[in-house]
Amino acid sequence: MQQGTRSSRALMWSRDAPMRLLVTGGAGYIGSIVARHLLAGGHEVVVLDNLSRGHRQAVPDGAELIIVDLLDREVVRSAVDGGFDAVLHFAALSLVGESGTHPEIYYETNVGGTLNLLEAMRSAQVRNLVFSSTAAVYGEPEEVPIPETSPPLPTNTYGRSKLAVDWMIGDYCRAHDLGAVSLRYFNVAGASGGLGEDHHPETHLIPNILRVALGANRFVEIFGTDYDTPDGTAIRDYIHIDDLADAHVLALGATEPGRHRIFNLGNGTGFSVREVVRAAGEVTGREIHAREAPRRQGDPPKLVASSELIREELGWKPRKPSLEDMVGDAWAFARAHPNGYGD
Ligand code: UDP
Repeated sequence: MQQGTRSSRALMWSRDAPMRLLVTGGAGYIGSIVARHLLAGGHEVVVLDNLSRGHRQAVPDGAELIIVDLLDREVVRSAVDGGFDAVLHFAALSLVGESGTHPEIYYETNVGGTLNLLEAMRSAQVRNLVFSSTAAVYGEPEEVPIPETSPPLPTNTYGRSKLAVDWMIGDYCRAHDLGAVSLRYFNVAGASGGLGEDHHPETHLIPNILRVALGANRFVEIFGTDYDTPDGTAIRDYIHIDDLADAHVLALGATEPGRHRIFNLGNGTGFSVREVVRAAGEVTGREIHAREAPRRQGDPPKLVASSELIREELGWKPRKPSLEDMVGDAWAFARAHPNGYGD
């Protein structure tokens, strides 16, 4: 019976009507906030997460949570077999350092897990996918801001595992009529609707700075002060999580059968580590003690993404491009959750 129901569901697919959406990794920082935006847009959301790095409390009210590991092929298959219009795929491991010391779990989780998901989608005839890729696939490109035409030459295992997935998705689009959009972005920041960033261990710059503002840590380390940049510290492109969520919603409306579309996402402006520390001091009104430390292995000096293509083709426009907004929203979350989600 499902066969007929599924086919007609695929045929009746309308982007204006409420959709039934599967969000993998919807208990993580980005997935949970995108899920919240989708629910606010009137869609039905089912979250698939193994809760290994995500938090049950982060799954937004109104979303159904199914605790499943993407490596569990048969269970994934039956979970996806629930009449979904599209999948938004966030579930992945994403720490550059860890990916270098444990490449096996990165390929297993990111590549193997996605293969299971794609196979489950094929079997259930779910033909629309938005994938959370990364601008780390570009490595250290010569052209900055980085366009989509820049050759992908990832410099770490995390980037390579995500690039492998992008290639796999492209092949499924060509062979199996999947319609997919990959979004490639760098440094996501901020918080939204009471949801925010809570990693263990925390490695990201803004949450680490805010732990100092909270008094939980005495100082933040500045990794590398001898880069060839105006103040010697590394430059990154920070994007507000709400703007990223908007891009995912637009991407959902842009999938086309047989086509794999790739968009970079960023503000096109870079901020140095010192600039972020300074902005956080101003926003929080607290003194941020910073100590100079050696470069972190694998960190490129400057990463800024061009988002010309997504602006032109999908009409994306950031609503919160200012660093102060991002840090301010992250600060509100940090103060409300000094111990993260507390799980
Ligand atoms: N960074 C830092 N101190 C920290 C965490 C990060 O100086 O405690 C630097 C890091 O070396 C990089 C930038 O801040 O240049 C952003 O790092 P993050 O880990 O937030 O994101 P990434 O760019 O690695 O994805």
